[in-house]
Amino acid sequence: MIENHGIPMVGRMIHSLDGSTYVIPYDARTNQCIYSVGRNYLNGLLLKESENYDNVERYFNHKLVEANLKNGSLTFIKTTSKENITVNADLIIGADGAFSAVRKAMMKQPLFDYSQQYIEHGYLELCIPADENGGFQMPPNYLHIWPRGTFMMIALPNQDCSWTVTLFMPFTNFKELDSQEKLLEFFEKYFPDSVQLIGQKKLMEDFFAGSPSPLVSVKCRPYNVDDKALIIGDAAHAIVPFYGQGMNAGFEDCTLLDQLLQKYNDDLSFVLKEFSDMRWKNTYAISDLAMYNYIEMRDLVTRPSYRIRKAFDDLMFWAFPNFWVPLYNSVTFTTMPYSQCVENRRWQNKVLFSIIIAFMVCTTFGWFYSRN
Ligand SMILES: Cc1cc2nc3c(=O)[nH]c(=O)nc-3n(C[C@H](O)[C@H](O)[C@H](O)COP(=O)(O)OP(=O)(O)OC[C@H]3O[C@@H](n4cnc5c(N)ncnc54)[C@H](O)[C@@H]3O)c2cc1C
Repeated sequence: MIENHGIPMVGRMIHSLDGSTYVIPYDARTNQCIYSVGRNYLNGLLLKESENYDNVERYFNHKLVEANLKNGSLTFIKTTSKENITVNADLIIGADGAFSAVRKAMMKQPLFDYSQQYIEHGYLELCIPADENGGFQMPPNYLHIWPRGTFMMIALPNQDCSWTVTLFMPFTNFKELDSQEKLLEFFEKYFPDSVQLIGQKKLMEDFFAGSPSPLVSVKCRPYNVDDKALIIGDAAHAIVPFYGQGMNAGFEDCTLLDQLLQKYNDDLSFVLKEFSDMRWKNTYAISDLAMYNYIEMRDLVTRPSYRIRKAFDDLMFWAFPNFWVPLYNSVTFTTMPYSQCVENRRWQNKVLFSIIIAFMVCTTFGWFYSRN
């Protein structure tokens, strides 16, 4: 199924300022890849799957406006008729996204830790259409990146051979592009090869049709209120999108919840508490990794130091596949918990540092003895 609805991307294709490109593979050893999957398709698939369960009822256009998590009462407003509806639940699972109403209710609980961070960058979506024959205008099996230091543009392939293009940039820079001339000048200076791909007219239309959206990162805990309520997905841990792990982290929540329900025979007082205790370290870790990956994608990928380190990691991974798994590979291609991936990287950094020191000491001694 994934082959029919996901487009494999085997590496990053970097677009330089002069329009030339080069590839940085994700996994040169075994050619593992990430997939570009359409949101609508995935949403449709999950909704369709829910129809297989008789005990699932679906309500659309109901907005949660108030929640009492201690007694399980929820008040929704029907967005079509503005009617208020209050229901009582034995268990509330809030999967209502980065601006979660369930989390808002949780914040009233004592000892609930919460922090949020807006980054200074916003994002705006553009589109590269299919070519006149209905094919891709760029090699499809890559995540295309135009890294420009303090900002970047990326493009992901779609099933209809178009590309979803996202420009990430400080809001102050977006503000400066307030006329068609300035926009075109900016694109021709920083993303020259993209102007023809998007098309000048379409670039103007799409850019000025929308406004940049903010990116928020949320850390909080615990994720439960007694055995009554739980938050999962972005509601529990919204992260910036630069590791492509936001949705995956949500699916991991579901897997863990399922495992704990089985382990404790559906006893929610154990399940929800253990979920909170086990999960926060990993979600905090992927949140920090996602922040770091933005700097890597927009800036570090173009630096020689990054490419030397990547080449070293790839070599070690090739020679010792079970012993030296590079950070990106451990996060993306294994089920290693995120916090362990970070620990792994710290340990690798220490080893690398020791190798460099040992090499320098040996070279210095060698030079010293050869002179005497
Ligand atoms: C620009 C961008 C690019 C991204 N790219 C990737 C990527 O490449 N890979 C990846 O894995 N992740 C990516 N993400 C992150 C990903 O979109 C999220 O992690 C994922 O959608 C979270 O799923 P969720 O179900 O927890 O929340 P959401 O997808 O936000 O769903 C929440 C749902 O709750 C509903 N809701 C909200 N409030 C209420 C309310 N009061 N009452 C009733 N319903 C409510 C919403 O309508 C929505 O249907 C990206 C995010 C952004 C912003």
